[in-house]
Order: sequence, then structure tokens, then C-alpha cells
Amino acid sequence: MKYNIAIDGPAGAGKSTIAKELAKRLEYIYVDTGAMYRAMALYFLRLGFAATDQVAIVGACQKVKVAIEYKDGMQQVILNGENVTSFLREEAVGRMASAISIYPEVRLKLVELQRELAKINDVIMDGRDIGTYVLPDADIKIYLTASVKARADRRYLELKEKGIKSDYDEIKRDMEERDERDKNREFAPLRQAEDAVLIDSSNQTIEEVINSILAIKENTK
Ligand code: C5P
Repeated sequence: MKYNIAIDGPAGAGKSTIAKELAKRLEYIYVDTGAMYRAMALYFLRLGFAATDQVAIVGACQKVKVAIEYKDGMQQVILNGENVTSFLREEAVGRMASAISIYPEVRLKLVELQRELAKINDVIMDGRDIGTYVLPDADIKIYLTASVKARADRRYLELKEKGIKSDYDEIKRDMEERDERDKNREFAPLRQAEDAVLIDSSNQTIEEVINSILAIKENTK
């Protein structure tokens, strides 16, 4: 049996930073499910679809193929044979990913791949519905959250460090909107699994959160 750690939570709570570092220390594979939704979003954007055009999106789901590879331990997302990893962090792609992830057909397309990866590898998988829907039997489930202020502060700083000018209020508003959509969609919404451990990272460093999760792992062996 492979060891599966699920980390869910809203945008900007630190999921990917923490999951990536944990994967390195434990020598597990890090599975970034958000990147898979972003790859689907990129595909629909390239086709010129509006996020609201459910008929076109659902129809196109049948033709798209998303696969995952690892290069120097880093996840690479392959969309219909093309490595699209470098395009996925763009704002427009993130916005589209948030909007199209409400459609069950989009989600079901990716869930199979996510479950397959967890079956054959020790994984740390982050997303919104991992503990509740994708891997209900995960060995450890973490619900990682933080106040909207803390999350918006971090995102703003992150962009500033990259030399990207941004509007703080807009970042905050956008985050709240995405959280609302993730929490209120009908199919596999964002919520804390009953057996998940809640960690609020508002006033914690990355190292503190990592140590808490490692301690949980030690105690659940
Ligand atoms: O985490 P990230 O920002 O890369 O995810 C992009 C979008 O994909 C999120 O805003 C969320 O709506 C969606 N998502 C999801 N379920 C997941 C992972 C991401 O609905 N497991």
C-alpha cells in the first residue's frame, strides 16, 4: 500500500509550498492538482471558449488528454502531448481554471489520473477536494487555511518579489471570489473532511507547519 497525504484548503494558504517541501523531505511525489485544472483551462482558452459555455467545454473534455511527468522531481503537465507547465501560472489561466472547475465533466476527467498516481506512488497531493472526494482513504488529511488578510498579504508580496505590480484590494477580492466558488459548487466542493486535521497558517512559518505535519505523520504510523 502506498502512503497518501492529502492537503486541501483555499488559495494562498501555503499548500503548494508546504507540500513541495514535505515531498522532498519524505521522498514522495508531489501532485499539484491545481496545475491539472489549469492545463484544462489553457486548453479551453486556446480554443477561444468562454468559461460559461458549458456545452462547448463539456464536449471538448472528450478530446483532451492531460498527463503528468516528473523532471528533476518537478511535476510537468502534458496537454495533448505538449509540455505546458510554463504557461500554467498566468493570471488568465488561473481565473479560467477557477471558473471551469465547477463542471463535473472537467473534474471527472482529472480525478481518474489523480487516483492512479496515488495508487502507484507515495504522494503528497494538494487541491480542494482531495481528502473529501479524490482520496477519501488517504493516510493523513490536512485542511490548511489562513485568514483572507494573511493569504492576500502573501500573494501580494510574492508578486512584488517577482517584480509584478499588483493591486492589493483586487488580489483580496479575487481570492474571496474564488474561495466562494470552490466552496459553493455542487460537485466536490472545498470543505474540510471530517477526519482532516485543521491547520491555520495565519501566524505560522512554513517550517512550523511542516513540523506539525511531520509530527502528525509520526503519530499515525
Ligand atoms: O491551486 P490552484 O490555484 O493552482 O488551482 C486553480 C483552480 O483550480 C482553483 O482556483 C480551484 O478552483 C481549482 N481546483 C479545484 N480542485 C482541485 C484543485 C484546483 O477545483 N483539486
